[in-house]
Amino acid sequence: MAEPCALCVQKADLQDSHIIPAFVFRWLKESSATGFLRFRPELNKRVQDGLRVPLLCSACEQRFGQWEKRFVEDIYAPLNHGKAARFAYGSWLSKFCVSVSWRVLTFLRKDNLAHFSPAMIEAADRALAIWRSFLLDESPHPGKHQQHMLLLDVVDEHTFSEIPPNLNRYILRSVEFDAACKSKEAFIYSKMGRVVVVGFIHMASPRQWQGSLIHVSHGAIGSQTYTLPDSFGRYLFERARRAGDFYKNISRRQADRISRDYRENMDKAVASETWKAMDQDVKLVGRSKAFGSESEGDQSNGR
Ligand SMILES: [Zn+2]
Repeated sequence: MAEPCALCVQKADLQDSHIIPAFVFRWLKESSATGFLRFRPELNKRVQDGLRVPLLCSACEQRFGQWEKRFVEDIYAPLNHGKAARFAYGSWLSKFCVSVSWRVLTFLRKDNLAHFSPAMIEAADRALAIWRSFLLDESPHPGKHQQHMLLLDVVDEHTFSEIPPNLNRYILRSVEFDAACKSKEAFIYSKMGRVVVVGFIHMASPRQWQGSLIHVSHGAIGSQTYTLPDSFGRYLFERARRAGDFYKNISRRQADRISRDYRENMDKAVASETWKAMDQDVKLVGRSKAFGSESEGDQSNGR
């Protein structure tokens, strides 16, 4: 049955659209130790793909697809293969970032913003409207609902009194999204492995975010130092801990199955990015702490 596309509102047979783009799950699977993905809250189920919902018509899917292709070719693939550290971009990057933030917020708007105040819900609706009109080339820029992108890297030393024991596994391997809202600030957080997109619903202090803004027309990212508010650092740690806690709930049977997969594919497992991420946590916090919270490296949340 034809239904209106969430972007162009034309009635069409809607596609099963990915909320987090499909290429992220392809990368996660290809670089994993077992070749399977697990998503919270159903960690005991192995799956092959991320969350999909009927959202877009095929023309709008293709529209998003062009920006995703440029992003994979120019940034995501070279970054994940360690082939470059600095990336020039054109207007496709702001479109890509907005397309991700818009998809996530469109999905969460229905019944996942209970922690938002009425004023923040209004701001979320304004963000959705301006992002949509930017995606349709009806507005020249997303206004104050800016997009920021962070390219994360391994943490090999720290000065914090306490650090999540799975921090590097979280940084390097997790895929998830969230609508964050704390007092005066709200944003859409989309984590695609080492790449994080933060799309602002309401920005409390723009001057505290330096080095991460994605310009509408062109620019370059990578190799820069970001200056971000402390509250965002705490938010990242909280997300990492939450991912680790979910892993504690994995069933005995599944844990055995993971160990078996690892043993049967030892060469692949040791060469995998999952293994390297675990190794980085062992270096960072020591073996006993690193393995206290979970048994497998990938922490994904398709929601
Ligand atoms: Zn459409």
